[in-house]
Order: sequence, then structure tokens, then C-alpha cells
Amino acid sequence: MTTPDVTAGAAGRNAGANEERGGMKKRVVVVGGGFAGVYAAQALERKLRGRDDWEILLFSRDNYFVFQPMLPEVISGTIGLTDVVSPLRRLLRRTHVVVRDVESIDVAARTITAAPGFRPHAHVERYDHLVLAPGTVTDFRGLPGLPEHALPFKNLADALDLRARAIRALEEADVEDDDPVLRKQLLTFVVAGGGFSGVEVVAELNDFVRNVARLYRRIDQRDIRVVLVHGQSEILPEVSPKLRAFAARILRRRGVELVLNQRLKAATAEAAILSDGTAIPTRTLVSTIPSSPHPLVDALPLPKTKNGRLIVDGHLRVSGHDNIWALGDCASIPTADGAPCPPTAQHATRQAQVAADNIVAAIDGGSLRAFDFKGLGKMKLPGWGRRIKVASSWTLDLILPTELIQLRLGGTAGATHEYFEPGQTVFNEGELGDRVYILLSGRAEVLRRRGGGEQLLTTLGPGECFGEMALLDSAPRNATVRCVEAMTVLSIPKREFGLLAANVPGLRASFEQVMARRGLPPVAEPPAPPS
Ligand SMILES: Cc1cc2nc3c(=O)[nH]c(=O)nc-3n(C[C@H](O)[C@H](O)[C@H](O)COP(=O)(O)OP(=O)(O)OC[C@H]3O[C@@H](n4cnc5c(N)ncnc54)[C@H](O)[C@@H]3O)c2cc1C
Repeated sequence: MTTPDVTAGAAGRNAGANEERGGMKKRVVVVGGGFAGVYAAQALERKLRGRDDWEILLFSRDNYFVFQPMLPEVISGTIGLTDVVSPLRRLLRRTHVVVRDVESIDVAARTITAAPGFRPHAHVERYDHLVLAPGTVTDFRGLPGLPEHALPFKNLADALDLRARAIRALEEADVEDDDPVLRKQLLTFVVAGGGFSGVEVVAELNDFVRNVARLYRRIDQRDIRVVLVHGQSEILPEVSPKLRAFAARILRRRGVELVLNQRLKAATAEAAILSDGTAIPTRTLVSTIPSSPHPLVDALPLPKTKNGRLIVDGHLRVSGHDNIWALGDCASIPTADGAPCPPTAQHATRQAQVAADNIVAAIDGGSLRAFDFKGLGKMKLPGWGRRIKVASSWTLDLILPTELIQLRLGGTAGATHEYFEPGQTVFNEGELGDRVYILLSGRAEVLRRRGGGEQLLTTLGPGECFGEMALLDSAPRNATVRCVEAMTVLSIPKREFGLLAANVPGLRASFEQVMARRGLPPVAEPPAPPS
């Protein structure tokens, strides 16, 4: 969080700029450039057209709108990368779009503070009416190993990441044909969460890997496993029981294994661990759950449900606040029968229209209308250009093969956190050293082969490092390290470690002292060749 650099500074400067931009106009400020926010701003543009006493501002983290229901198709490359997104400025011609992360909202002062951009100061804007629509977040905190090893699936970068991960797994499985354990992990793809997003991701991922696997000469189609883990007895709680059963049937028919009444409890680099303790070996784990309240909403002094969604009345107004409205996934919105709306784009777009109508009614002293939407219609991509592009991509898909190019966008991952379960091996004696580890929590034991068994050399705890010897000596690992108590480590790849050791004064020497202090005996036996 960035603190505004004093009221007279940031806020004062902004206020000046605001007045220059909008004079003394009153403002509706929308937070969020997703379904709820964009459709609300569009409806407000229509309703406030021709009025020069009001202006609309929309804050969004990205300068584009993501059509999330089609995001899973980025995995297979069925549609072009930019076809699932639309530039906000093209969709919102009469809204002032501010591409910044909103950091806090001061309800009493009626101001919004956004993160700094190029200039190192917070950006503050005032509002008269506020529309809250920042959605929710996938929050892995509290689930061991998920922050380190599970992929979320919310935005374009997540979709690209998953596509790259799936292709890499196939490439590696094609190479590692003499290691059945690793191959099993590489050829198993696990998705957790049986809501809209999980089901669409698993369907697309399944079709993609099975389709392209035919191009790999050393991969047998029958070795591929695609698993959907869901905590309830039926998937897709958002739709009717008939549709749920239909979707489950189709998924199974296409080869997806449904693991029901089980939750994802933890993850390692090699397995997804379920609530009953079952470990599904995998190197590709996606989790669309748990969906948690947005931290921005969490911090607001506004009424919320037990699961952190903003409580609004039937008119979408936050209880007790005449000028604050909440819609989309961040809000708990009662339907006519009293039950809360499911978090779907279908509902968000309808809520947006009602909120816009009611804001203008509130401005003009008119009467408000209640939100009442039951049926699920068809979703349409915003913008004609995009619809035509998508339609042509789908048509071409009928005749062109699935795209298999793996884009490496991020370069090397650098230092990362990794999580290990008790009994899991970090590395084996004799393996090539490719990274060094710093133990952050938990315990590990260091073992060396002796005769037919293993001899315990030492145990390691928080703050200790291991794996540096093979890197400093450019030799194979001279011991095995195994987790004894669930542990999190900072894992630094060889290249980054080499750069640090070469450039940080004294670093190499201090690692050498650690090695000397440990005084591990020299390797007694040559490492066994890999079996
Ligand atoms: C893969 C997937 C498939 C889905 N399929 C379907 C489907 O088939 N049918 C259906 O009806 N629903 C589907 N959904 C659900 C649907 O997409 C959501 O219900 C809908 O997007 C909710 O809209 P929203 O505007 O509340 O949130 P979002 O669409 O998530 O938008 C939130 C916006 O707020 C922005 N934001 C967040 N924090 C900040 C901040 N601090 N500052 C500035 N901006 C911020 C985000 O960048 C984003 O633009 C799917 C969801 C996913 C992930």
C-alpha cells in the first residue's frame, strides 16, 4: 500500500487536475473493468448522455476488458490471444478510464486512492456516487504449497501460463521416457474447482492435451490423465441439476476423471493432495478456488456477509450508504426469491443496467427499481470487431490443426518458493545440482548411501541452506535431502546463484565456510547410475 504523500500534495494536485479536466462536474466513479464495471459504465454513458453536470470515471488494473468465459480457449489457441480482450477505451467512449490499481477508498472523505504510476505519488480522486465492482480474487493463502505450485485462472497471463506449462509437460514427457514416475506426473493434469471456470478450464485443457499429444512420438494417449477435483457431489452449482448432469456426462465421455466430494488440501511440485490424503501425481495443477473477497473490499468499513461479499439491498445499494453501489462477484445480491445471485457474468451484466438506472434515478430524485433476473441467456462478446474475429477463428479451427507453439514470455522464473511434504525428496545423491535452497520453515534430513541403506548425516532447520556444494564445486549432489517436517524453501536456480556468488562480495566465501563447518565426509561410493 502506498500512502498518499500528504493531502496538500497528491490529493491537492489531483484535485486541481480533476477540476481542470472536469470543472465542477459531479462524478460517478466505477472501480473495476470487468463485466459489472464496464457494463455499468456503458449504461451510465447512455443514461447521462447530453448532461454536462455529471461525468463518469472508471478505474481498472488493465486497459482492457477480459471476456472471462472465453479465457480457457486461450489454452488451446482456438481463438487469438487478443480476441478475448477488448480495449476499455474503445468500449467506453464517454468515460474517463484510469488504468491504475485502486489501493484504498475513504468512505467518509468520498475519495479513491490509486497506486502510483511513473510519478512516485498516490493518485487521489473524489466521487459523488461510487460503484464497487472489483470482482473477487483466488487466494491460496493457508493452503500449504498452493501459492508455490498451483496456477490460478483469472486473467490473460494465467491462461498463457497454463498453456505454456501444459506444452512443457508434454515436451518433457516425450524426452523422459525412461522415468515412469516423472512421466506419470508430467502426463497428469489436475484442475481444482467445479464451478464455471474450473469446468471450462478442464474441458479445454483436456481437449488440447489429448489433441496435440498425437504429435509426440513417445507419448501414448492412454497415459494421459486429466482430473477435475470438486468439493461437492455435483459440478456446476451455478446451473440447473439437468445441465449439471449433462456437463458431467460430456466431461467423462471426453476422458476427464471427476473426483467429487474431495477438496484440494495442499500441493507440492509433484502432487495435488486431497482432503482424504490422496496424492495425485502431477506437474500441472490449476486451482480456480478458493474464491475470496477482494482485499480492497475486505478493508472497507461496509457491511459484508460471512464470506466477505458486500451486502446490498434489492436496488444494489450498499446497506446504509445512499451513494455506494456494489455489483458483480464482490457483492451479495438478493434475487426476488431471497437467494443470493450466483457469481456469473450473466448476472453481473444485468445488475450493471439496474445499478445505472438507479444511480440516475437517485441523482434525479426518481424511484429506484429492484433487481430481478432469473434466467440464463446467452453471453455475447462486447464489440462487433471482436465477434467477427472470434467467429472466423472458430471457422478456421474446423480446418486447421491445433496450435502447439509454446511462447516463453517470462524468461527464467528466478528465485521461487517451493513446498515439500514429509517424506518427499528434494534431490537425490548423484543428481546434477541445478539450484540452491534456503529453508524457511520445517525440517529436512541429509542422507548418504551406505552399503544397501542410508546414513543420516545431519538435519536442517529454518534459516539453513543446502544444495550449494554441487553448485560451487560443479559436482553431482553428494547427499540426498528429504523433508521430515512440512517445509517451505526459497529455491534459487543455478544461474541466479552463480551471478550472486560472482558479484556479491563475500557470498561465495560464506557458503564455503558453511560447507567447511558442516564437514561432510567425502563421497565414499560413486553415485549409482540413474535407473
Ligand atoms: C475462466 C472463467 C470462465 C467463466 N465462465 C463463465 C460463463 O461461461 N458464464 C458466466 O456467466 N460466467 C462465467 N464466469 C464468471 C464470470 O466471468 C464472473 O462472474 C464475472 O467476470 C464477474 O464480473 P465482475 O465484474 O464482478 O468481476 P471481474 O470480471 O473479475 O472484473 C473485476 C475487474 O476489476 C479489476 N480490478 C480488480 N481489482 C482492482 C483494483 N484494485 N484496482 C483496479 N481494478 C481492479 C480487474 O482487473 C477486473 O477488470 C467465468 C469466470 C472465469 C474465471
